[in-house]
Amino acid sequence: MAIKIEHDRPNCIGCLSPETLIVGPFGAKPISEIKVGDLVLTSGGTFQPVTGVMAHQHEGKIYQLTVPSMGSIFITEEHEVLIVRRKTARENNAAPFHFEWVPAAQLQSGDYVTYPKANAPFLANVGNASNSSKGPTLSLMKEKSIESQERVLLPIEIVEKSYSGTVHNLEIANNPDYCTSAGIVHNCAACAGVAPDHWEMNADGKSDVIGCTKRDDEWEEKDITDAEYDANLQAAQSCPVNVIHLVKKETGERII
Ligand code: SF4
Repeated sequence: MAIKIEHDRPNCIGCLSPETLIVGPFGAKPISEIKVGDLVLTSGGTFQPVTGVMAHQHEGKIYQLTVPSMGSIFITEEHEVLIVRRKTARENNAAPFHFEWVPAAQLQSGDYVTYPKANAPFLANVGNASNSSKGPTLSLMKEKSIESQERVLLPIEIVEKSYSGTVHNLEIANNPDYCTSAGIVHNCAACAGVAPDHWEMNADGKSDVIGCTKRDDEWEEKDITDAEYDANLQAAQSCPVNVIHLVKKETGERII
């Protein structure tokens, strides 16, 4: 069976504006100042090393995601955020909550972003750093938050804006995410992590299929052999925004 990869490169992972505060043992640091080797907080509550930093120019929509006690971040539309969504304020008030990854463009005011619970008091300092008012963030967090077994949840407000400037993303060892002052967001390079012989990260923060053909619409294509199928299937399955497809050449049918 002849198979090809199709990569929707224009929609490869989103990014964050330069001043976005990233949480680490250092406290809170703008993403533009994070370096390879820095430790950052991840969804599991552990600090993991940064293995890659990416930046590129972005013109277009951006979403202002605000957590009242923790300040705002600006995030591009495809970038996924770990949230809990509830139909009513009382729904599922006891754990376990249903956590889901949702692209910024699909977030709704009233969704809850998440923070590792073990670090909640530490995160209060991050909130103070990101708030110009320097208010009593820990008490605000306690007042507004709900808790699952492992995470603190805080409600958000989301507003669409336009943006022109540099945006950034991080690659994290052993983990698919990292913690900002406004909750946990997805990192990327997942494809290059699971299939490094077939995928590589580009300096613009997006990935490339190694040895591909680039189409006029900026998608990438490459025929693969049977021996290359499993690694690329894993890459496609690891992609948080489903922009990697394996396609049967004879029929055009998408396997994924
Ligand atoms: S897994 Fe690869 S293709 Fe998918 S969003 Fe991440 S970097 Fe892009």
